[in-house]
Amino acid sequence: MKKLALHWRILLGMLLGVIFALIMTNFDFGKDFVKDWIKPFGTIFINSLKLIAIPLILAALIKGVSDLKDISKLSKMGGRTIAIYIMTTVIAVSIGLVLVNIIKPGNSISDKTRTELVDSYSDNTTKYKDQAALQKEQGPLQALQDLVPENIFSAATSNRNMLQVIFFAVFFGIALILIPEEKGKTVKSFFDGFNEVILKMVDLIMLAAPYGVFALLAALVVESPSVDLFKALGWYAITVVGGLAIMIGVYIAIVLVFTKKKPSFFMKGISPAQLLAFSTSSSAATLPVTMERVTEHIGVEEEVASFVLPIGATINMDGTSLYQAVAAVFIAQAFGMDLTFGTQLGIIATATLASIGSAAVPGAGMVMLVGVLGYAGIPEAGLALIFAVDRPLDMCRTVINVTGDASVSMLVAKSVGKLGEPKPKEWDDNYDDVKGN
Ligand code: ASP
Repeated sequence: MKKLALHWRILLGMLLGVIFALIMTNFDFGKDFVKDWIKPFGTIFINSLKLIAIPLILAALIKGVSDLKDISKLSKMGGRTIAIYIMTTVIAVSIGLVLVNIIKPGNSISDKTRTELVDSYSDNTTKYKDQAALQKEQGPLQALQDLVPENIFSAATSNRNMLQVIFFAVFFGIALILIPEEKGKTVKSFFDGFNEVILKMVDLIMLAAPYGVFALLAALVVESPSVDLFKALGWYAITVVGGLAIMIGVYIAIVLVFTKKKPSFFMKGISPAQLLAFSTSSSAATLPVTMERVTEHIGVEEEVASFVLPIGATINMDGTSLYQAVAAVFIAQAFGMDLTFGTQLGIIATATLASIGSAAVPGAGMVMLVGVLGYAGIPEAGLALIFAVDRPLDMCRTVINVTGDASVSMLVAKSVGKLGEPKPKEWDDNYDDVKGN
């Protein structure tokens, strides 16, 4: 019998997880059972993905850069990558701003609901404000300074330092190109082999994906706040999700126009990564799978994917920037503030920068939102208004973040002549489908 495709198995796992949790909430012991006996498997699954993120970036980038064999190719690709990333982010923020100004979700919040939300969530938001305050104290060139670690081993100990690891890997790769080929041969083949091993680890972890997402979603359902709160914030959530859905359309259109690849080909190729992004709320945890899908199922050559995707996972967050713009204006509306056109243009710039600065982990977008609110003079207390629905929206915006990275990798690959045919591994259960057998 033909095995169900991976994305269907993951979807089934998600669905069963939700159903299981809904059943369990009917029993007194249900919530604790899910938290104690099911949730840990979700955490183990996410951890196993995070575990390979840094080794993957190191191996893939060193291999990717050294495969280019030419520094001018690298700077061409680097320039295009950053330019397209910034362009898609600005499009995303603008879509968010247009929608929030048309729908005006903040006007549907009554004074009573606003006070209730601020009262019940102000404690939860303190953590975000404190983290943001720490960042505020830093100088204007801090981000640039942070790019260069003083010790690569300590940098590699935290997934939050991905940009530092990327810096080291690119630097190492460049040096490897510059030494005589004969001398660098062993180092290069070491990293080539290392990269293969990591990719195989991704395959092995993905065997557990349907069970992992089952556990993650079951835990989310038993821990989610009451349905009434969702209703109060319904229009806000609809605005964010609507904007994110439009972004999917934007990516499909860009891919179609610039690479001539059909929407179904793109979406089918990337769907397991999207489902994982949704279940884990972390672009960093999803990175290994995004990388595998883009190279093996979409045909982006490894040297492009291994350069464009790790950078994208850290700096290109279209979903996050769109959400930050909508959230900022929503909070302003709920507090009865009128934002001028100039302030809204400023939000485009600050949300773009804030999304670049957001870490690729759950909830990071909310920390950086504090900066956007500060810029526009919107009360930070407003964070409490959106807190209740932040997790589900985080799940959705992470899908967009990952889809954006994948589509840009196709564009960059196409522009440097490195978009070929999908190369599924023989052991891949979709091998026949992808090969068209
Ligand atoms: N969770 C998002 C990501 O990892 C970041 C955020 O918007 O909070 O891409």
